[in-house]
Amino acid sequence: MKSARFFVSGAATGYNFGDMEITFWGVRGSYPVPGPGTVRYGGQTSCVEVRSSGGGCLIVDAGTGLRGLGQKLAREGGGAAQTHHVLLSHVHWDHIQGLPFFEPAYIPGTTIVVYALLTAADELQQVIGGITRHEFFPVPLEAAPARILYHEVEPGLRMGIGDFSVLPIALNHPFGAVGYRVESDGTSLAYVSDTAPFTEVLHKQHFLRGLEPLSDGDRTVLDQIRADLVQSLRGCDTVIYDTHFLPEEYARFPHYGHSTPEHALEICVEAKVRRLVLYHHAPTHDDDLMDRMSRDYKKRGASMGIDVITSAEGMILRIGVQGVAA
Ligand SMILES: [Zn+2]
Ligand SMILES: [Zn+2]
Repeated sequence: MKSARFFVSGAATGYNFGDMEITFWGVRGSYPVPGPGTVRYGGQTSCVEVRSSGGGCLIVDAGTGLRGLGQKLAREGGGAAQTHHVLLSHVHWDHIQGLPFFEPAYIPGTTIVVYALLTAADELQQVIGGITRHEFFPVPLEAAPARILYHEVEPGLRMGIGDFSVLPIALNHPFGAVGYRVESDGTSLAYVSDTAPFTEVLHKQHFLRGLEPLSDGDRTVLDQIRADLVQSLRGCDTVIYDTHFLPEEYARFPHYGHSTPEHALEICVEAKVRRLVLYHHAPTHDDDLMDRMSRDYKKRGASMGIDVITSAEGMILRIGVQGVAA
């Protein structure tokens, strides 16, 4: 991590016990872009660590940010056998590329449970394990000392993982993706990446097909996905949302499967969310542009009653009883 660690909420009040802690290890979409232009917001791809005050830990997405998190977890574990839970939004590169570099995978006795949506005909093990086929990587994932278990998630079907309650949510992305609402410590967090708005069919198809005219059936399905998303986010304290594009960029690439901060705000206002975190930043957005977006959408959010913050690599958020009351 290159950027300084900083704290938002909770820490400002000195209230920590009973809070959920969220650490951003990678906030970039598409591909990693570390370099002089991304020093402040970071260049690693999607990965977020969620901790409960009871010591529970969830890893959400396994982009290149996972490498740094794995080093920390291995250090903390001191070589002891541990179980790690990794929730994947989907299996595009920017959400799985850190898996072969996850240090705990090479510690004997470790168990890694990977949760994902089955979006192809193959088993999850073949899809996710396939990234370390011998043509691509020297050590096959199944040959790593850790035991890797795969758990297929189903949108709407709640899961209990340690002291977390986790609800998978269907999203609108080429070949599908899922978001997650995570509850613990009397508060709630949602992770909504990757998703396009709900005006075009993208789920379950490749974007090279381009945008096609919507049938009545398509419209019904999209309306249902959107309604379920709003319902799933209702009253959520903090929502991390795919805000990859500025509006003018979205207009050029509506079939890429990503949203703008405007789309995210619309959903958050409807769901009465307290805070929106801008996330999955386009690799072409350098620090200066991110500063401008951060400032502009903070103001826009305030006028709509939503606290908007922009995620940066190394940022730690604490949300909890105090945060909700505030
Ligand atoms: Zn992505
Ligand atoms: Zn994607």
